[in-house]
Amino acid sequence: MKDLGERLSHGFREECAVFGIWNHPEASRLTYLGLYALQHRGQEASGIVSLFEDLHIVHKGHGLVADVFREETLNSLKGRSAIGHNRYSTTGENEKFNIQPLKASLFNGPIAVAHNGNIVNSLGLRKDLQRKGAIFQGTNDTELILHLVSRNPSDDLMTCLKEELPKLDGAYSMVMLSKNSMIAARDPNGFRPLVLGEILVKGGKAKVVSSETCAFDLIGAKYIREIEPGEIYYCDDEGEQSFFLDNRSDKKNQCIFEHVYFSRPDSIVFGQSVYETRKRLGASLAKECPVEADVVIPVPDSGVPAALGYSQESGIPFELGIIRNHYVGRTFIEPKQSIRSFGVKIKLNPQEAVLKGKRVVVIDDSLVRGTTSKKIINLVRAFGAKEVHMRIAAPPTVSPCYYGVDTPDKEELIAANHSVDEICKYIEADSLGYVSLEGLHRAAEDKEKSEYCAACFTDLYPTEIPKN
Ligand code: AMP
Repeated sequence: MKDLGERLSHGFREECAVFGIWNHPEASRLTYLGLYALQHRGQEASGIVSLFEDLHIVHKGHGLVADVFREETLNSLKGRSAIGHNRYSTTGENEKFNIQPLKASLFNGPIAVAHNGNIVNSLGLRKDLQRKGAIFQGTNDTELILHLVSRNPSDDLMTCLKEELPKLDGAYSMVMLSKNSMIAARDPNGFRPLVLGEILVKGGKAKVVSSETCAFDLIGAKYIREIEPGEIYYCDDEGEQSFFLDNRSDKKNQCIFEHVYFSRPDSIVFGQSVYETRKRLGASLAKECPVEADVVIPVPDSGVPAALGYSQESGIPFELGIIRNHYVGRTFIEPKQSIRSFGVKIKLNPQEAVLKGKRVVVIDDSLVRGTTSKKIINLVRAFGAKEVHMRIAAPPTVSPCYYGVDTPDKEELIAANHSVDEICKYIEADSLGYVSLEGLHRAAEDKEKSEYCAACFTDLYPTEIPKN
């Protein structure tokens, strides 16, 4: 486990979801549903803050959205506007204070903030603020943003944000609720997604912001556009307005891993359907790494669209050779006697009917440490496969992410230290193939390669990563 200083220097590797709604009679309920649709982005904790008159009402707790909120809690979260957050965290730092949204009382009124992404220069900024007397209660980047805003001398919240946000390096897609407005902001690189939608309500429109469009589908909101990298979007009862940060550049660095793994396939992310991108990744993989085989099977669920793409491009039939149990929680009571591959089998069960005597292509979205692939390949063989060819719908993962995806350090990333042949031997596959970086960029329908951050596959970080 890293020490606090080391972890803070890069921010915590948090994968999160944010959601916000302005001017809807069922604001907290729709926020709850939005968070429900965004559960895949964080399962450790969840929270909602609503705005009632000029007070902020808050409810948050550990666990899944459906467990944190009850009918009574949603009834108590009164008001026509609300923001919410789902949090994922690596072990150790999941204490209650870190659950978002955070709320604070500034001299010009209450403010609540929910944020997705990691601020890479947070340790330096934090130390600076502490020297000037700031007292931090938690260990998250959101609190840092609150301190920066609260110390700005301006009375105007937008001026505070325009002056303070450029001090942050790294990733932030955030929503804020003040006493009379909702604000959404995205860092100039646009690392993490953030989208704007609206819902018709009596006498006007409710404005909605979300990490992904799948939340809009559930609540019947219309997708309008992305919040632009470097944009601060503001809405209140008078209307809406956009401002741009001074450090905004023409160059986006959107996280390509959102397309590979992180986002839901039914979302439009960075203007592209994730499902279509993943299918194209599978098709590229079939062209770049062909193999003679009888059947293509996905590692469910994240490998499914790419496996369909591989099958359609190669003509090799697609089958569900591994069935996933969707009801596996974080913990379960293990048997007293050891069962081979129990950890993976409780979630993924191969089918002999599909696999016996077959040459099988197994498709997964990514290979990180290599342990999952190794276990799956062994299981697929144990259920009768004659050959197992592993195909990965992403390039080799060679570097950790400092912008909000939980990837292990370099020492644990198998591709950072081993060749494809060595990895193939380690996972005990008959062959192994990855999609190329060009194939990945093409699949994400990139106009120019510079539109995406692919640092986890290239080791080229678009911002400086401070060492401490
Ligand atoms: P590994 O055993 O470390 O190679 O894990 C690879 C598996 O983890 C793949 O099946 C991916 O779908 C999944 N995966 C990749 N990135 C992440 C992530 N950031 N968080 C959780 N799971 C991931």
